Amino acid sequence: MSGVLGIYGKNVEKISQMMYYGLYALQHRGQISTGIAINNNGFIDYYKDIGLVNEVYEEDDLKGLRGNISIGQVRYAFSDEGIDKKNIEPLVIGYKNGALGVAYDGSIANYCTLKEELEEKGSIFQTDLDSEVIANLIARAGKKDIVESVKLVLEGLEGSYALVLMTKDKLIAARDIYGIKPLSLGKIGDEYVVSSETCAFDTLGVDFVRDIEPGEMIVIDNNGIESIFKKKEARSFCAFESIYFARPDSVIDGRSIYLSRLNMGKTLFKEAPVHADIVIGAPDSGIIAAVGFSQASNIPYTIGLIKNKYVGRTFISPTKELREKGVRIKLNVLKENIKGQRVVLVDDSIVRGTTIKRTAQMLKEAGAKEVHIRIASPSVTHSCHLGMDTPSRENLIGANKTVEEIKKGIGVDSLYYLSLEGLLDSLGDRGFCTGCLTGVYPIGKDGKKCL
Ligand code: SF4
Repeated sequence: MSGVLGIYGKNVEKISQMMYYGLYALQHRGQISTGIAINNNGFIDYYKDIGLVNEVYEEDDLKGLRGNISIGQVRYAFSDEGIDKKNIEPLVIGYKNGALGVAYDGSIANYCTLKEELEEKGSIFQTDLDSEVIANLIARAGKKDIVESVKLVLEGLEGSYALVLMTKDKLIAARDIYGIKPLSLGKIGDEYVVSSETCAFDTLGVDFVRDIEPGEMIVIDNNGIESIFKKKEARSFCAFESIYFARPDSVIDGRSIYLSRLNMGKTLFKEAPVHADIVIGAPDSGIIAAVGFSQASNIPYTIGLIKNKYVGRTFISPTKELREKGVRIKLNVLKENIKGQRVVLVDDSIVRGTTIKRTAQMLKEAGAKEVHIRIASPSVTHSCHLGMDTPSRENLIGANKTVEEIKKGIGVDSLYYLSLEGLLDSLGDRGFCTGCLTGVYPIGKDGKKCL
């Protein structure tokens, strides 16, 4: 999971600042590292490091990045990956036809096969990045025209991707044929912006033009913008972007993430009504569905849980002893609103089950008369190989326990998950990947293990 941003502009003075604020808006898509690469008359310069956007870039770093085409990324590291400086994007390489910058969100399903083939031909890899395989394939594509090379490479890629590429005179953006990852196009004056999410356009004052279509590649240069389609498959946008990952003020493929979550909450009440005094949401991603549940049920929505906003990346988990003493660092209960109440707690999903169990316990300890859990998505029963960091199946509570067993384990009065039909109805159509909820994915896994 990552956020990507690309700008093709005229104003060399302000482009790095625009990248900074755009990446700031995409920070929720990755907190491990960030980088900006910028094209200055055919030379690609870059600045990248581990950390949040506001930690990595100083004003002077941005002033030093001058040029008219830029790409950037905020990166999320997978839990088994650790933090490694070599894996910070954008990746910048030099090859026979000049410099190339690549930033990527997604996961190439045939990464190991492609990497092995390249290694057999003599390629040496310095990172674990999918984008390094892509850059190598482009460099070896043997076409004079970069656009032809990228087209050829994309035809051989399986998996999910939102890709931004930069050459000395072009910004290229592409989205996988299923549209699993989001990617949108915006414009301000003569400048084009591509972004993982439209919330970055709002931050930059950029007008939304349209979504980049599944399987579409766009090329922006001095001649304007050209759209190149490759073969299309049935759209399979990641349902988890709508459930949890994307920002609620983004609009993806014509759907407001906010309205989708509100609908999920409303549908949840229709499917599993309950007599209760208050509805509360698990901060932050359960709150909008909780409001929807409240609107549909006429049960008042109130604040029940307070989240510490300053618990960040460097958070040190409390020891078992401190946890048992009830140290509440991330989340605390607003006792005044909970005591003596029949509470509906709405959350977006349950993955391992540890957070919801702890939250339910806290509500009971604060004097809740009853606690009813409503989950605004079906049970997560499978892990994702398409770019979302989900635990392996043995660590997914939904894969190993029935709803009744989970309810008993959490110690609540009732527990209900939104049905798959209810989710898709709330989202408005059937064009979604629901692999981690059903085990049915648009793309299979590359069986190969990377050596
Ligand atoms: S498997 Fe789940 S998380 Fe992965 S792309 Fe599909 S819906 Fe999204």
